[in-house]
Amino acid sequence: MLIVMDAHATAAQIAHVCQAVGELGYSAHPMPGPTRTAIGITGNQGPIADAGRIARLPGVREIIRVTAPYKLVSREFREADTVVRLGAELGVATPAEIGGAAVAVIAGPCTVESREQMLEVAHAVRQAGAVMLRGGAYKPRTSPYAFQGLGAEGLQLLAEAREATGLPVVTEIMDTETLPLVLSYADMLQVGARNMQNYPLLRAVGRSGRPVLLKRGFAATVKDLLLAAEYILAEGNPNVVLCERGIRTFDDGARFTLDLHAVPLIKQLSHLPVIVDPSHASGRADRVVPLARAAVAAGADGLIVEVHHAPAFAACDGEQALTPPTFAAMMGQVERIAAAIDRPIATPAAALAP
Ligand code: PEP
Ligand code: MN
Repeated sequence: MLIVMDAHATAAQIAHVCQAVGELGYSAHPMPGPTRTAIGITGNQGPIADAGRIARLPGVREIIRVTAPYKLVSREFREADTVVRLGAELGVATPAEIGGAAVAVIAGPCTVESREQMLEVAHAVRQAGAVMLRGGAYKPRTSPYAFQGLGAEGLQLLAEAREATGLPVVTEIMDTETLPLVLSYADMLQVGARNMQNYPLLRAVGRSGRPVLLKRGFAATVKDLLLAAEYILAEGNPNVVLCERGIRTFDDGARFTLDLHAVPLIKQLSHLPVIVDPSHASGRADRVVPLARAAVAAGADGLIVEVHHAPAFAACDGEQALTPPTFAAMMGQVERIAAAIDRPIATPAAALAP
């Protein structure tokens, strides 16, 4: 249920409504908007019996039943786009934003391998216009015998790359045990496709308050993805960016099938930003750039792209890694495509200043 307050409702009236909702045994989530505040209600199993009582409270304009199974992530609950700010908690030279007018590009290697590799790729992608770095320290590998990531050492190398470039970093979190350690390094926590429905992990990253990049499971519907995000918001963390990274279909021409339709669909259903990962979707470097172009044209708020200075020697996902020159060329193309739909590409302006 959604309580829409009058445009001129006072702070005291809003607080009073929240208190009344609490007294009925539900949770109130006030969401200030550009013209009026809305208050979302969660915790009810079905229609709220005392809705009439709330409707009569001073300052209440109307009560709307939210029919979607997800509440806090829905457009019905919050009309305005959510903008997620990255880098504030740990302090970086150039904080980034995802979900505003500008299209944000995150780039870096699949996995952190060494200081030389991480720094070389980090400088190259910053130079080409990436506003955020990626790099896995804990890798969810299909085979238990494949390289599993450098763990804590990888996190330290990521922190060095953050320091050297001024850009915030995103890295994957695989379990709740490593969360405290990852929180001391990561500006954004990536919950990977394989963990999209790990509900205790979703609750834990929700409680952490740190921005979360939630990737769509490869057998998950958009509804499943939105309900997974709901777990994070229900813990009081509104800083969630969704990521379409390809799903499994009957077609085996690509590693996964990029569901571009998910982008405009999510934008309709939810206020959360949505970005696209063309690297894992295609699995092939020569197809990453066309998919990246299409994602921006479809209205994605950003991209996350794997880049490696020597893909043939990459410890993980080398076949889909762009080289720095190809990544730079891609940036030029997506900038022109974004311009066609009146969007700029986000730039790490201060970091690039001499
Ligand atoms: C990754 O980003 O490196 C990754 C493992 O992605 P996904 O969870 O989408 O497979
Ligand atoms: Mn990868």
